[in-house]
Amino acid sequence: MRDGNWQKFWVNMSEEKYRILLSGYIDNELSPDEKQDFEVHLEGCAECRKELESFRKLKEVTGAMKYADIPEQVWEGYWSSLYKRMERGVSWIFISIAAIILLCFGSYHIFIDFFLNSEVPLLLKIGIGCGIFGLIVLLVSILRERLFAKKRDRYDEVSR
Ligand SMILES: [Zn+2]
Repeated sequence: MRDGNWQKFWVNMSEEKYRILLSGYIDNELSPDEKQDFEVHLEGCAECRKELESFRKLKEVTGAMKYADIPEQVWEGYWSSLYKRMERGVSWIFISIAAIILLCFGSYHIFIDFFLNSEVPLLLKIGIGCGIFGLIVLLVSILRERLFAKKRDRYDEVSR
């Protein structure tokens, strides 16, 4: 290895060391010597200052008491919310397909066998017709509520 490469290698090694000190610095777990060493380095290193700033912000956002608590929490929340969203998305697609098929099939047969059947009294047709209309309105209202709740869930996730 040439001199320039060795120099880069040692710079990288010391940067590694300061990145490790950084988490201890945020959690206030460094010895006074380490703390001073890190603060001196911090003054001359814009990269570490940037890292420190972003870690502090991350700590604020997650409400974690310690930097060490952050990664697991963030990832856990990320995966569980992603999974939940996928799970719900898939289940709603299947329920919607089932509802559309049943509605088409059902309304076709009701129309042929019931409403076009001259043996069924008109009053009964009106009564059943009103019942079906009411069910459709109810279904639409439940769907709207679901959609609204979904939007609110998303808002809660963001504002939490
Ligand atoms: Zn640095």
